[in-house]
Amino acid sequence: MAKVTVLGTGMVGASFAYRLLNSGLASEMLLVDANHMRAEGEMMDLNHAMPFEHPCQVEVGDYADIKGSEVVVISAGAAQRPGETRLDLVQRNAAIFRDMIPQVAKAAPEAIMVIATNPVDIMTQAAIKYSEFAPERVVGSGTILDTARFRYLLGEYYGVDPRSVHAYIIGEHGDSEVPAFSCASIAGVPLADVAKQLGKEYDLNDMEDIFQQVRTAAYEIINRKGSTYYAIASGLLRVTEAILRDQSTAFSVSNVMTGQYGIKDVCLSLPMVVSRKGITATLTLPLNEKELEGFRHSAQVLGELAAKTL
Ligand code: NAD
Repeated sequence: MAKVTVLGTGMVGASFAYRLLNSGLASEMLLVDANHMRAEGEMMDLNHAMPFEHPCQVEVGDYADIKGSEVVVISAGAAQRPGETRLDLVQRNAAIFRDMIPQVAKAAPEAIMVIATNPVDIMTQAAIKYSEFAPERVVGSGTILDTARFRYLLGEYYGVDPRSVHAYIIGEHGDSEVPAFSCASIAGVPLADVAKQLGKEYDLNDMEDIFQQVRTAAYEIINRKGSTYYAIASGLLRVTEAILRDQSTAFSVSNVMTGQYGIKDVCLSLPMVVSRKGITATLTLPLNEKELEGFRHSAQVLGELAAKTL
């Protein structure tokens, strides 16, 4: 049984902690937050769920207590306010990571870090740099949430369970993200053919509308309820499960490019295989020209920001 640290127990961290308790994956859970009282409140609330849940030792602590954690899930830092982009958070959260990450790496040199703090691609690159971990041991949550939104909406459109939809959002987790429509399928059948087989039209305007809903989902939710947390918490739980259970699952997580489509030294999302060792493989999709151009644009946006910030 595993020890998992939740670093940052705001809306995302607390939602993840609750999913982790429900899952029974961890025997020990450490909550760390600059706001100690908030972490304590979450611990108390989680402990009171214990008679209904799996046994788990939940504690609140400091960086040194992270020792022995197999996975450290990081969602500490500022979140978007209405009208802000993810990239607007970069200075505030880079400063937090500069201070926080070396302390995490010192306390738990064997851990796998999973990063959710935005802008997540830059924060993943920051975590790799400031921890001096091998890049594969730092898993950025990247576009897992965008991919989930994409699959959900395509599933609704075609009337199929989203778990039978194979489709990825790649590139930046943010405004320049790219829908890989040309590689999307339902049960291996390309979307245009699926439409025919299901007696529907393959309408490019509808597909564009679905992508716009994916791209603007965070803004729409933040305008309505302040922040987004349940879906990312479920995604973080799946990534944590893939690590702890050594499942070699493909997720669109973020890590440093090493020559994919000629791109290097910038963190972006592509489908990557996640196991007990972290990221063990990065897969390239057979993209069309427009998608490739979009992916290169994401690389340029993030590369420039990383160079200015880190
Ligand atoms: P929140 O404001 O509710 O929580 C942030 C927490 O971080 C707070 O409890 C705060 O006390 C803590 N914190 C701040 N500085 C800290 C430090 N130096 N050390 C320890 N803790 C510190 O925000 P939230 O809604 O939970 O969002 C957290 C982050 O996750 C944001 O950056 C947000 O943009 C991001 N997010 C990412 C995704 C994704 O898909 N990757 C989805 C939703 C939110």
